[in-house]
Amino acid sequence: MTPSGPSSVEPLTTAARKADHIRINVEENVSGKGITTGFERYRFTHEALPEIDLDDVSTATNLFGRDLQAPLLISCMTGGVPEAEQINCTLAEAAQERGLALGLGSARILLESPQVLPSFAVRRYAPDVPLLANLGAVQLNKGVTVEDCRRIVDLLEADALVLHLNPLQEALQLEGDTNFGGLLKRIEALCADLDVPVVAKEIGWGINRDLVRKLFDAGVAAVDVAGAGGTSWSEVERHRLGSPVRAAIAAAFADWGIPTADLIRDARRVAPSGTLFASGGIRNGVEVAKALALGADMVGVAGPFLRAAVAGRRRVLDLADELVGALKMAMFLTGSTDLPALRLGNRIIDATGPRPEIVRGALHYTSSRAPDFIDITDDIQDMVRGAGIQEGLVHIASTHTTAAIRVNENEPLLIEDFSRLLERLAPNGHYHHNELERRKGIAPDEPQNGHAHCRHLLLGHSETVTIQGGRLDLGVWQRIFLIELDSPRSRQVKVQVMGR
Ligand code: ZN
Repeated sequence: MTPSGPSSVEPLTTAARKADHIRINVEENVSGKGITTGFERYRFTHEALPEIDLDDVSTATNLFGRDLQAPLLISCMTGGVPEAEQINCTLAEAAQERGLALGLGSARILLESPQVLPSFAVRRYAPDVPLLANLGAVQLNKGVTVEDCRRIVDLLEADALVLHLNPLQEALQLEGDTNFGGLLKRIEALCADLDVPVVAKEIGWGINRDLVRKLFDAGVAAVDVAGAGGTSWSEVERHRLGSPVRAAIAAAFADWGIPTADLIRDARRVAPSGTLFASGGIRNGVEVAKALALGADMVGVAGPFLRAAVAGRRRVLDLADELVGALKMAMFLTGSTDLPALRLGNRIIDATGPRPEIVRGALHYTSSRAPDFIDITDDIQDMVRGAGIQEGLVHIASTHTTAAIRVNENEPLLIEDFSRLLERLAPNGHYHHNELERRKGIAPDEPQNGHAHCRHLLLGHSETVTIQGGRLDLGVWQRIFLIELDSPRSRQVKVQVMGR
């Protein structure tokens, strides 16, 4: 027997690869090994007296302008091969019947072989629910144009286009596309030109918080964090790869990725109002509820629906009922009548104990007079809320030597008194600092601002405020001011939120 190296394996056609993917997902254990979703670390606070009627609990929501019975996405798995046609049709009928969103498999094959359209075109089975087309983002580096994307969306009558990010999967495939250089710019251009929303998703190794921020900045309408702990596509590829070397490489990545639960929490912190999807190993309705309570707007489930679809329509409907039924009960048991209520307060706790976090940010202001008392309390409260920190401290610091941060009362007459006090203590008059001819290395527009520095010295550059229950723990009359002491200009305030 000759040992088979990478060169002995012929690259497969897209269709053959798809057929392999379905078979392996159904027949083999393709879970990540030695890694979990992280949901087991979170517990809901059980309410023995929820004070609501289970019948009043509503899981209804809306996605891309279409109403849903539950925030559930039957997620992108397959398409383009004969096996896929029946699966997609079954999933589409179930999505329509239960009012759930439906994501399709990668439409790249549709660009290569337009005759496979019937296996994708499921709009006629699901006329009312959000339908998400799907394409590998890396294809944008392989000549796929905005026009191609538009064609895919039109052919499939989709409400949105999902771009999947799968660098590890591509790297493992012999026929994989591994040039991911400059893709963010291309995604940004696509978002600007395409008429439907663009969703960015991983495929099971996760999108970290910095990339979540960059993707929203690039213009995506939603991010699916798609974390680790469920189906591992490196394990799927391991079953496909003929070469023992490549299979061993794939096996080494069995525990790769970031747990789904942590990703959702992190993503919500950096994108307080962004539309977030959670997927990756979510296997029951309580985990759906946990994902929502941690900050997701939609929850994607792929593998279990694929396996159910192979077993038939009844199994798909049963799975949908099981997921939504348990979600509804979890909402009842936490006293949440609707999805926004499920996300409120301390309904979910990290059972492994507090893990302190530090979240940093900056605020920018333009002052309009001097002195100018700018009340920044609400902006600081918004940042604390965005950081998701319930108990801790927030440190607010001016990055300047002539603009102070101070806590006091926001009362107009009092602010006049403050201005007079500052004028008395450090009058706008002669200072050595203003003798510009005696100083070295000064800017051409150096201001005469000795008085502003001296006032800043008396006031100070920062304040620290405690956080309790996610709110600034200030007294009734206490407000946080950025105080302009020099002439009007742009000012930066750095904010660091620390706690859990
Ligand atoms: Zn100065």
